[in-house]
Amino acid sequence: MDIIVQKFGGTSVATKELREKVARKIIATKKTGKHPVVVVSAIGRSGAPYATDTLINFANDAYKEYDSRELDMIMACGEIISAVILSNAIKAMGYKGIALTGYQAGIMTDDRYGDAEVIKVDPKNIIDLLRQDYIPVVTGFQGATEKGDITTLGRGGSDTSATILGEALKASMVEIYTDVDGVMTADPRLVAEAKVIDYIGYDEIYQMAEDGAKVVHPRAVAIAKRGNIPLKIKNTLSDAPGTIIHHETTYSNKYSKNISKKKILTAIAHKNNIHQVSVYFEDSVALNELLMNELTNKEISIDLINFFIDKKVFTIESKDVEKMEKMLEENGFKYNIIKNCSKITVIGNAMKGIPGVMAKIVKSLSREGVKILQTSDSHNTISCLINNKDTQKAANILHKEFNLSK
Ligand code: ADP
Ligand code: ASP
Ligand code: MG
Repeated sequence: MDIIVQKFGGTSVATKELREKVARKIIATKKTGKHPVVVVSAIGRSGAPYATDTLINFANDAYKEYDSRELDMIMACGEIISAVILSNAIKAMGYKGIALTGYQAGIMTDDRYGDAEVIKVDPKNIIDLLRQDYIPVVTGFQGATEKGDITTLGRGGSDTSATILGEALKASMVEIYTDVDGVMTADPRLVAEAKVIDYIGYDEIYQMAEDGAKVVHPRAVAIAKRGNIPLKIKNTLSDAPGTIIHHETTYSNKYSKNISKKKILTAIAHKNNIHQVSVYFEDSVALNELLMNELTNKEISIDLINFFIDKKVFTIESKDVEKMEKMLEENGFKYNIIKNCSKITVIGNAMKGIPGVMAKIVKSLSREGVKILQTSDSHNTISCLINNKDTQKAANILHKEFNLSK
């Protein structure tokens, strides 16, 4: 059985016209003799009546202190509505659409509500339905614990649902339909010159996603790599060919004629609303240990870590600022927090061992008046912490400096 998983994001199913367009795409796949398994996100973006953010705001308006298990039940409603509506659009066109929850699709998770991890997938139900000629439409972002409690897979988690089902069903391809023409050299909302990348390896796109490129969820990429399943990112609204994601060697051998000279950098990603924390104390083993223990106990994750003799500098996300301030006050630490920063990262496997990339970044940003608060690097990334207000400017400067639109 040749199975293709087709995932449609919230904007792809935002209107009746779009849902009909999506249903026609799914049916076109079915007509080729392949078996589509559809994964769908909640309808629309924040503000739309059944979008995930709208449901969260609705819950918070009622009361603040939610049990995470129950918040998951509310959040899961958006995808349930979407799956039922889309499967009915398929039925209206004369095909056997059927809506399935995460549980009915066999997606079993642990009980970390809000960010659950898939522990097992039993694809039997879906396979039985495919044999009976159904087109299953599965709620993205959703699984269930062994006890049958509903869980969600973390924001943006419908991509994860798609690849985890692709792996379990041994699909020949997972197609992710969204509102851009593919993976691009930067977020096109920030950089108008950004260009579609035709082929990209799992490792580079994983790094991009980890560093903020929202176009696909990093967990989804890791699963696709593990299952050796090619991913295709496509635009629901256009016929653009999209981006193929696979092992770098696979596509570079197969499509080498299409790949122009490899650039040092592949793309730029960014994450807004990061906060830089500096904690001051002379090198003291006891204080160091106290700080580390408190961060672990309070479950605060830190990034961009630079430790000096007289101060420790790192970044945190918005959700942890209050917790962090309280912890530092309670323990009497001297500290300073620079709020509303942005981490801008350049990514490229070809950068490894090439000298002067950091210098080029620092020089080009400084020349244009972008203040760099911190830097860090790995074998295939260089990140700079800057002020939120400079994000767009910095992304455009670096995009140009490294010729990414050529
Ligand atoms: P969906 O609802 O379909 O899952 P998302 O909003 O999660 O869509 O992801 C698509 C968005 O990702 C695009 O609208 C785009 O603004 C953003 N994006 C960020 N970085 C990139 C990139 N490098 N390439 C393409 N899109 C990107
Ligand atoms: N609807 C969920 C979210 O907004 C999952 C997804 O869209 O991937 O996070
Ligand atoms: Mg998404």
